[in-house]
Amino acid sequence: MDFKPLDIQKEKKSDLTAVAERVKCLIIGSGPAGYTAAIYASRANLKPVMLTGLQMGGQLTTTTEVENYPGYPDGITGPEMMEQFRKQADRLGADIRFGMVTDVDFSGKIHRVVYDETKVIEAESVIISTGATAKYLGIEAESRYAGQGVSACATCDGFFYKGRDVAVVGGGDTACEEASYLAGMCKKVYLVVRRNELRASKAMQTRVKTAENIEILWEHQAIDLFGKNGVEGVTLIKKKGTPEEEEVKKNIHGFFLAIGHTPNSDIFKKYLDTDSVGYIKTIPGTSKTNVPGVFAAGDVQDPHYRQAVTAAGSGCMAAIDAERYLAEMTR
Ligand code: FAD
Ligand code: NAP
Repeated sequence: MDFKPLDIQKEKKSDLTAVAERVKCLIIGSGPAGYTAAIYASRANLKPVMLTGLQMGGQLTTTTEVENYPGYPDGITGPEMMEQFRKQADRLGADIRFGMVTDVDFSGKIHRVVYDETKVIEAESVIISTGATAKYLGIEAESRYAGQGVSACATCDGFFYKGRDVAVVGGGDTACEEASYLAGMCKKVYLVVRRNELRASKAMQTRVKTAENIEILWEHQAIDLFGKNGVEGVTLIKKKGTPEEEEVKKNIHGFFLAIGHTPNSDIFKKYLDTDSVGYIKTIPGTSKTNVPGVFAAGDVQDPHYRQAVTAAGSGCMAAIDAERYLAEMTR
């Protein structure tokens, strides 16, 4: 196989020329999708190896309460929930390793995956569940108030702001959808739009423009947040760089970012079809990518739902698809 390692690996040729470990099923990523795939693949006797990536447990380890995952009637913290996922996968026999995939070669029937830049695994099937990362503005206040009023997921956290005032940043479909969702439970929603028009589809535009409790702040940019006990307000600049530029303050308790997500798919793009944003394309109703034996699950292939339960569901699908693929191969 024509395997082209990363430049850094050229200096460590002995590692790469060593016989690579061979596995039936390799799972990349340890969020709800990865762990669910590991649970199903273990029970199907595929002896899965999981590489956790740097964020063991995935995005939910960065949140406090998860209230919408079925099976936890009193809610559960994200880190606790993901620890339970890990324990279940571990108990069923998944080989969970801390490791970051740095390169892949999907050109042959056996897929070669480099992790931690020097170690190589050959896998008969690969499940990619590397998630997506919400974009943030990059202002210091976002980390100051992380978990205390700043969120990138209205469906996840909106409930905590029931009856209060909130702001949503962004002018695309996601921002309009999040603003509409929040308008159903919050007293007032400010939609903070940096230009004087929305990028969203006409239908979504109409929905936010006609909602009684959504106020669009045109040509506003958030520059800071304030508050002693979590977020209590946002500081904005209106019409920045024009003679009418002015500073505006709004009292809010929730500050929602909806300026897009980046799927963690860069290292796979050489082989896998992705959409214009970078989400891995799967055959509808399956987890199959354009490369036989390579499957994708969770947020990395999902521009629409991006929920823990949908990620877990698609992780299950990927393990079942992998099992059937391997069974076909040996027939
Ligand atoms: P992720 O959870 O993103 O996990 C991706 C995994 O891939 C990580 O383990 C990472 O280390 C690994 N990885 C990435 N790159 C590599 C690599 N190169 N090599 C190896 N591993 C790699 N959803 C809900 O349903 N309810 C909620 O209440 C909720 N709250 C949320 C709160 C916050 C703050 C955020 C950010 C999200 C929230 N979500 C919630 C959304 C939910 O977290 C995601 O939909 C879900 O985690 C997606 O799961 P996933 O398995 O696809 O990916
Ligand atoms: P998007 O279409 O890329 O829109 C991102 C929005 O955030 C834009 O309005 C952009 O402003 C704004 N933005 C980006 N960076 C910013 C910054 N630093 N400060 C302030 N604002 C910033 O992303 P999306 O809304 O997540 O949608 C992604 C894709 O999913 C789109 O194709 C969308 O149609 C689709 N989607 C569809 C639906 C639906 O059909 N129901 C729902 C959600 C998403 P500018 O406009 O000025 O660039």
